[in-house]
Amino acid sequence: MAFVNEHFLKLQNNYLFADIAKKVNHYQATHPGSRLIRLGIGDVTQPLAEAVRQAMHRAVEDLGQQSTFRGYGPEQGYPFLIDAIRANDFEARGITFGADEVFVSDGAKCDTGNIGDILRKENRIAVTDPVYPVYIDTNVMAGRAGKFADGKWSEVVYLPCTAENRFVPELPARRVDMLYLCYPNNPTGTTLGREELKKWVDYALENETLILYDAAYEAYIQDPDIPHSIYEIPGAEQVAIEFRSFSKTAGFTGVRCGFSVVPKSVKAFTQAGEKVSLNALWNRRFTTKFNGASYITQRGAEAVYSPQGKQQVKALIDYYMTNAGILREGLSNCGLEVYGGENAPYIWLKTPGGLSSWEFFEQLLHEVNLVGTPGLGFGPSGEGYLRLTAFGLREDTLEAVERLTRRL
Ligand code: PLP
Repeated sequence: MAFVNEHFLKLQNNYLFADIAKKVNHYQATHPGSRLIRLGIGDVTQPLAEAVRQAMHRAVEDLGQQSTFRGYGPEQGYPFLIDAIRANDFEARGITFGADEVFVSDGAKCDTGNIGDILRKENRIAVTDPVYPVYIDTNVMAGRAGKFADGKWSEVVYLPCTAENRFVPELPARRVDMLYLCYPNNPTGTTLGREELKKWVDYALENETLILYDAAYEAYIQDPDIPHSIYEIPGAEQVAIEFRSFSKTAGFTGVRCGFSVVPKSVKAFTQAGEKVSLNALWNRRFTTKFNGASYITQRGAEAVYSPQGKQQVKALIDYYMTNAGILREGLSNCGLEVYGGENAPYIWLKTPGGLSSWEFFEQLLHEVNLVGTPGLGFGPSGEGYLRLTAFGLREDTLEAVERLTRRL
């Protein structure tokens, strides 16, 4: 007889985006004439950059020739991509890593979800609240989250981020072993300055806490004073693993490519108190459970760092950030309290008139035909907020503001 991992049975069934889709589909079916504008899910809308497409075409041709054919590649990624990542994302900012400290994958969702494999179940975790749901759910699956009651998991330390604390989380009242930080933040679209991030690195150094730093949106940072990588903070190379993604940087949500950085100096303990390098464990996990991102994908990702690629990808980011500006300004002019959208592709709205996030979601759906994401879906501190993304088409973004201006 096979037994199931019963922690899976604790997962909340009402997966946020499935719930939203149900409500949206029902509305569309009952109002066939209405045109919905969907600014809910954080998926990109602009096509791949030309430099990326050309590189992928060339890679297909490589695979079609005997002399350049490739089969299984290195599980951790091809050196051509790892070297481009090290040079452009890190060395350009004064951060140096060995080639064996970067692991190319099929995206940050898998990496942030899988990292728990190499960490003991008994670790106490902390998350900023609201939060990208993957961090929570994968810890539920691993048995680290405890029981769910009143919208919270009993063993998870929640660090509220609301307008009241300017979306800057306070240090946890009780010591934690693993801490998830995501900056620029999904869903609030806010960032942490250098001093604020340093506070967390110092905390981690003092408390031997492991920071899992998700920088999937770093390419959206406009302000030169905001760190792109946690490794810009001295000491972080001892306590932090960083996750990156080409999804939002270069429109790879469908192509699939990301990477993690696991410096050899990041250690965790055995039960006997011995310090173990997480790099070796992550490498072992990678080589056992993953066979590498495809050659075509990695050639496409490499092209993001070419001179043309950089220019074209910047144009994509500028497009989305212009959308973010349109939303920020338009919604503020409607009298709404608007956060984020300056260094991130997300706009975080305070619901007007004390509406709950689901009530505001329904109001926008029914009265404006605009789909957002209710903040509560990202955690208890998301109540009273709603997320809109800047990833829509320009015409939809403009029309959303126009409709809201007419309605509010
Ligand atoms: N991390 C955060 C914070 C995200 O918002 C997302 C996607 O929405 C991901 C990771 C997933 O990235 P990927 O497409 O690389 O799996």
